[in-house]
Amino acid sequence: MNMNALKPVMLSNFLDQLVIQNELCQHGFDSWFFHEGMCFQSMEIWWNNSKKRSMPHEGVDVCFYADIDHELKMLGTDADIPAIFSGECIHICKDFIGETLVLGHDIYNSAGHQLLTFYAHVDTKNTISLNTRIITGDIIAWIAPVSKPSVLPHLHLSVAWISPDYSISTFDWKTYHHDSRLQFCNPMNFFSYGLNPCPRFSE
Ligand SMILES: [Zn+2]
Repeated sequence: MNMNALKPVMLSNFLDQLVIQNELCQHGFDSWFFHEGMCFQSMEIWWNNSKKRSMPHEGVDVCFYADIDHELKMLGTDADIPAIFSGECIHICKDFIGETLVLGHDIYNSAGHQLLTFYAHVDTKNTISLNTRIITGDIIAWIAPVSKPSVLPHLHLSVAWISPDYSISTFDWKTYHHDSRLQFCNPMNFFSYGLNPCPRFSE
């Protein structure tokens, strides 16, 4: 096992940015909520309990949050998606799951592998193209409408270390097979998770 892939190089306040950019404080945001099947490497399908995934989940799905009254709410279609880290657009693919944006970051591990972030089930609305430079927190895409009624609109996030000899330009989720040159790791290890960015006022 590559221990570098498990060791966070730096933390992003991405989940707080998602709250702030989408003004979820005004909707009583309290905390993000994840079904088991939304988590990294889960074999569960969270939108259909009778089935299992064919491969471990390559990332984390984000869409539910609990409000201060403990009600479950959703981000929904067209929610703003901020960049996790600064970097540049290195690939956009359109396949059976919709559109996926891939950013490459100026972050490398000791093996010389570059850190990538993937944003899937999104719509970039043609606002970003190959080599576009991105600053942390820039809005890079929006949650896309779903094509199947059984699936809820959500953001799939993946984080991976890529070897210099892996060509990301041909990547899509259909032809992708597990390859040690593209090593997915748990996105939650890169987030400063657990902080609630919404101010609370006592009466
Ligand atoms: Zn997913």
